[in-house]
Amino acid sequence: MAVAGDDDFGSLDDSAILQAYEDYEQSQDEEVGGGGSVATTSSVGKSEDASGSAIKMKSGIKKIIIQHEEQGTGSSNNVKTGEQSTLANWIYEENNTIITESVRGVRSKYINTSDLQMQEWCEQQMIYNIGAKMGMIPQLITDEGAVVPVKEIQLTTPAMKAGTEVHKKKDLEVNSYVNVAVSTHGDSFALKLLNTIQHIKHLVMGASCIREVTIFSMPFDYGFMMMGIVDELRMNEHEELELVEVKTRSNRFKPLSKAQVRTHNLQAMVYKQIIDDLTSGVVDGNVVFEKMRLDPKHVLDEKVLEHARALDVAGNTLGDIMTTMLDQFRFLPRVSSMVVEYYPSDKDKAYKELLSSRRVDFDETWLKKRLETHFGFWRGEREVSGVDIEELWKCNMCQFVDACHWRKRKNDECVKKMNQKK
Ligand code: SF4
Repeated sequence: MAVAGDDDFGSLDDSAILQAYEDYEQSQDEEVGGGGSVATTSSVGKSEDASGSAIKMKSGIKKIIIQHEEQGTGSSNNVKTGEQSTLANWIYEENNTIITESVRGVRSKYINTSDLQMQEWCEQQMIYNIGAKMGMIPQLITDEGAVVPVKEIQLTTPAMKAGTEVHKKKDLEVNSYVNVAVSTHGDSFALKLLNTIQHIKHLVMGASCIREVTIFSMPFDYGFMMMGIVDELRMNEHEELELVEVKTRSNRFKPLSKAQVRTHNLQAMVYKQIIDDLTSGVVDGNVVFEKMRLDPKHVLDEKVLEHARALDVAGNTLGDIMTTMLDQFRFLPRVSSMVVEYYPSDKDKAYKELLSSRRVDFDETWLKKRLETHFGFWRGEREVSGVDIEELWKCNMCQFVDACHWRKRKNDECVKKMNQKK
């Protein structure tokens, strides 16, 4: 039996941002409590147990289009690169500061692994994406010097939708879902823990793989709790634990860019570190509750307890479920290997057609370096940054290119330098 949340069908397309949208939606839902769904989970491989479970399920991916009334007089989507009025610049700067600080604020509790992946791709883009989900639209300065919001933001592209479908279908190969109505954040989190307990039990009992498993820890004690949903865990032929990340490719012939490889590697390594923290018993449930502002003494709803009893989980509080979940992980070995599997996103049965797979070597020094850089932003130690000069090609695929603060600032610096040389 397994339990998962609203965003458990999240996927990461080549642009590496879809999961973040999904996770963000989940975190928003959790903050207000909300309902859920119950599912049955079928086992894979040797396990015969296919008992029912509670899962919150979402029927589809929302295409989000945000439209705002134009302000000011301009309507051009081209950022003016020369001199702008002091007032326009001030409004533009203020808008960016508000978006950045608001996003930093909502991530004070914990960071989703998908945020981190998006951050690795482009930190500025991550800010705009999360901000847009919160209703904060980046503004741009027109050729006429007016400050206007970006007219339309489409947060889910067809390629992302296709990627989500692949993840969803792969998930449904091993899990099926039924509704469970819950009204508190604590009950909702308990369902996630129960799903993870169910997953681990299946793997220990001999299932060949488990998918969409919620995990969390505070990697390397940097002070940030990270939470994510690992695509797949399986035992390989040597009875070692293997971690699998599923990625989709809209262009099956195009070689992976270095940036894609780096982003995918970061995600796989973070997941390995989290799982190793869990299997070695260093995760403190009380710290997790503190970070999530949850009460371990919260007495669970009878509907949640029903699922707990079906899994032989004793106790009736959120803390009891956490204790069982952490105990369960001690039955698993550390992650021995990591694989990224690539599937096409351009046809119906794509989830069955493995295009290629790539092994990832764990590099603790590199991982720590990347985490220190990224956490530096969340701690407020440095300003948001955009892409490096050699990865400017990413901007051509970015919907925020016209409004991008990072690009404008770099451009302004360039113009200033050129003017000083004259
Ligand atoms: S335009 Fe470039 S730097 Fe700005 S958010 Fe998009 S990808 Fe990042």
